[in-house]
Amino acid sequence: MELSTLYSANVLLLSIFAISFLSMSFRVTPHKHLRSWAAANASMAVALAGFSVEAHLSPAAFYLVPNALLLLGFGFHWHAARQLAQLPTRISNALAPAVGTVLASLIAYELANPVLAYTASNVIFVLLCVATLWAYSSKSFHGLISAVGLILAFFFIAAEGVLRTILGLVTQPPLGAGMLNDSIQDVHLLCILLFVSMTGAFSLAISFEQIAQRHKEAARRDPLTGTFNRRELQDRLDDLLRDTPKDAFGLVHFDLDHFKLVNDRFGHVSGDQALIEVCSVVKTHLRQDDCFARLGGEEFAVLLPNITRDNAFKVADRLRERIAELRFDFAPDDFFITASAGIYHGDGNQLATTDLQLTVDRGLYQSKNAGRNRVTFADPQPKTA
Ligand code: GH3
Ligand code: MG
Ligand code: MG
Repeated sequence: MELSTLYSANVLLLSIFAISFLSMSFRVTPHKHLRSWAAANASMAVALAGFSVEAHLSPAAFYLVPNALLLLGFGFHWHAARQLAQLPTRISNALAPAVGTVLASLIAYELANPVLAYTASNVIFVLLCVATLWAYSSKSFHGLISAVGLILAFFFIAAEGVLRTILGLVTQPPLGAGMLNDSIQDVHLLCILLFVSMTGAFSLAISFEQIAQRHKEAARRDPLTGTFNRRELQDRLDDLLRDTPKDAFGLVHFDLDHFKLVNDRFGHVSGDQALIEVCSVVKTHLRQDDCFARLGGEEFAVLLPNITRDNAFKVADRLRERIAELRFDFAPDDFFITASAGIYHGDGNQLATTDLQLTVDRGLYQSKNAGRNRVTFADPQPKTA
């Protein structure tokens, strides 16, 4: 394929992605990584346009400009990956590879040594690609399928960079100072075309995958306390009831005692603070697989899968004790909050979630009627024919 066609295809594709990332950044939150991708694609488009007109550039510009712009583009790719991964970012890091290339190319220009400019820019390029694929393999992208696409894209282009470096150094000297200036420029341009298509498509996909993941997580959580919500508890309970064979589990329903008085005495903001602190202490006393959910207001449930009757009671009673031990900044030291609970234990066989809710509710009301600050077991009522 003609070099000019390959250059034009790359510049066109890069410009389209730059414009779409920039326009998306005005609509989507968070938007910083989208702007970085836009900058990456725009810099690379100008860089490739620069490579294609190298013959018309002055010698100094020929050494400096296209290489530096291409590395600026990849610097922005690295920056975007770190922004998306919520790793510490500084714009100076995104610019550093391009600055390094400018310095190396200046020295190469002074020495009239195009091999040095070609090799130095390619080595920096490979390191930058490795840093970027490293960022995409960080924990925040686990479970996102498009991260694999991005890792592959950067691995592929890094390998291509290694090939360029070896080609330039060992087998044939480069044709010029530009990092694509060797005898198989058309292959490099085809590889870049593939890389640009992959990163464009997978960057868009990862952005939306992350947004979908955040929405999914928010839909399972209570906004005030960060605990799970009623929907998540219901889903987990349904899963347990569907399981065969069934394991015994515990279901605890907590209600804070006389909580209205907390609001009346200290105000709603303090009441909210108390709810947050109660949740935080409960969470620290549960196992990884337990599900602690806010059902609404000052009512909570704890689902304890795979547990004996004794242990389910012990857990519920320990939570009750820990809540009563809490002390609050907004209240005097002799002020404390108590909780009453109802508890069911069994394998849920032949029971629907509403049967379980009615059962724990009965236990809870027995605790309230017996003077509060206690946990009471309840068994399901036998079904009448
Ligand atoms: P009982 O021991 O019988 O459960 O008494 P109670 O006062 O806790 O029960 P009641 O259901 O009468 O009142 C619950 C109170 O919980 C009413 C409301 O002011 C408070 N509440 C519910 N949700 C929130 C919330 O999100 N923030 C705050 N600050 N208060 C809340
Ligand atoms: Mg209540
Ligand atoms: Mg209450």
